[in-house]
Amino acid sequence: GIVSNGSASDPAPPHETFDTILVLDFGSQYTHLITRRLRELNIYSEMLPCTQKLADLTWKPKGIILSGGPYSVYAADAPHVDPEVFKLDVPILGICYGLQEIAWHHGKNVLAGEKREYGRASLNIRPSESQQAHVSKLFESLPNDMEVWMSHGDKLSRIPDGFTTIATTANSAYAGIAHEQKEYYGIQFHPEVTHTPQGGVVIKNFAVNICKAQQNWTMEAFKDKEVVRIRKLVGETGQVIGAVSGGVDSTVAAKLMHEAIGDRFHAVMVDNGVLRMDEAKQVKETLTKGLGVNLTVIDASERFLGLLKGVSDPEKKRKIIGNTFIEIFEEEAKKIAKAAESTPKAGKIEYFLQGTLYPDVIESISFKGPSQTIKTHHNVGGLPEKMNLKLIEPLRELFKDEVRKMGLDLGIPADLVGRHPFPGPGLAIRIIGDVTPEKVRTVQEADRIFIEEIRNAGLYDKISQAFAALMAGDAVGVVGDQRLYGHIIALRAVVTTDFMTADAYEFEIKFLKHIAQRIGDEVKGVARVTYEVTGKPPSTIEFE
Ligand code: GLN
Repeated sequence: GIVSNGSASDPAPPHETFDTILVLDFGSQYTHLITRRLRELNIYSEMLPCTQKLADLTWKPKGIILSGGPYSVYAADAPHVDPEVFKLDVPILGICYGLQEIAWHHGKNVLAGEKREYGRASLNIRPSESQQAHVSKLFESLPNDMEVWMSHGDKLSRIPDGFTTIATTANSAYAGIAHEQKEYYGIQFHPEVTHTPQGGVVIKNFAVNICKAQQNWTMEAFKDKEVVRIRKLVGETGQVIGAVSGGVDSTVAAKLMHEAIGDRFHAVMVDNGVLRMDEAKQVKETLTKGLGVNLTVIDASERFLGLLKGVSDPEKKRKIIGNTFIEIFEEEAKKIAKAAESTPKAGKIEYFLQGTLYPDVIESISFKGPSQTIKTHHNVGGLPEKMNLKLIEPLRELFKDEVRKMGLDLGIPADLVGRHPFPGPGLAIRIIGDVTPEKVRTVQEADRIFIEEIRNAGLYDKISQAFAALMAGDAVGVVGDQRLYGHIIALRAVVTTDFMTADAYEFEIKFLKHIAQRIGDEVKGVARVTYEVTGKPPSTIEFE
């Protein structure tokens, strides 16, 4: 699915309508940050694997950045860029491995250093004798001795022909090199990480001053162009169907489709019985009344809960929910298709809307090693394939913060745009053990209280994800004079930037005690409330 959109046949994807810096990935864990830094400067940037053949590239970048990578350019199986990159006549910036790749291409002058250089270093950008010496365009407006982050073991053995040294550090004689006529630049440090505090200026100097890329990548501009692109793609009568969940991505995608083709976009929400409290009602309210989206809500909660009865294995729960969702969605799609085709001037449903984001794309195309061939990825769930629909993915070029910005531009309420993620299998995986309607209600009520308190305390946006879960087994408690065996509710709130690692949020104990009191008083059948403090790793964010 990832490759089925944004292809050359589509009308004007962003790399054709915005000045674009191409980042070629050699497998560094920081590569996506280069793309992000450029986007933050309102410069459009896309990443492709270092193995990209230039003959297959249908657009011309304003400049190219070669990323870092874990390999050594002199190794027999080291990855190298298509040599055509050096014939394209656009500025090139090499970062770490990228610097070494530029040097290697110009005379194989790279070898293993005596020791790895890892950590902070001070960059001298006036490396020649005289302190009045010329500072490279790459370091314009930067102070001498700025702090940079190093992470390399290899080094240049000599300066390649036609290049000059533009920066040094105590450990690196070639911390920066340049061929000013060809506009090739190489730096040994990583400007994309926060450990290089002024790295953004280096990236800006390259993209704006050297490549002359326009800083016009804004969500407003993208939205307008994307609306035009969708209209062209879908045609005068084409229809699009898509699922909405109440989450940020599907809501933004749905609203964008609505802007583009109005009621020819058909949103479907399936209430699977394991959503947050009143979720289906609220989504209906927001999407139809608030945003004008053509939405059908299907209450299938009984069907789901029936199938989930007695199932404790989380993988089985996931499968049941996933498969049943597909069945119901297909049934509904057929109905919508029939109705759509009988309407005058309406065409067939040809497209399936999917809220794929750029990190998914990056994940699927990032360079994973010289021995690994890049696989084209297939769509999750297989729904569009099964239904013979083409994918439309209007958010596939965007990072999450860009989706949020666009959401606000589209008039989606800020509290929805800033909403925490919610898993597809919903509360079924926040109820440890088997799922019953009574447990669903319990966890819904506890969750509502927890989130309400967090919002009222002004903490919601400081937390990345917060929720209540229901633990397996009962605990003893006391209500009035009676001993009572009841549920154990676990509260979880984490802070994270990328959801790969996470820390438990540090609430004040008084605040947690207040919530425990409220849940105990207001939610029937709860005997205990705990707060989960494990970080990720070793735990995960969800419980199962
Ligand atoms: N393997 C190269 C080195 O150690 C490049 C490292 C990097 O790009 N971070 O020098």
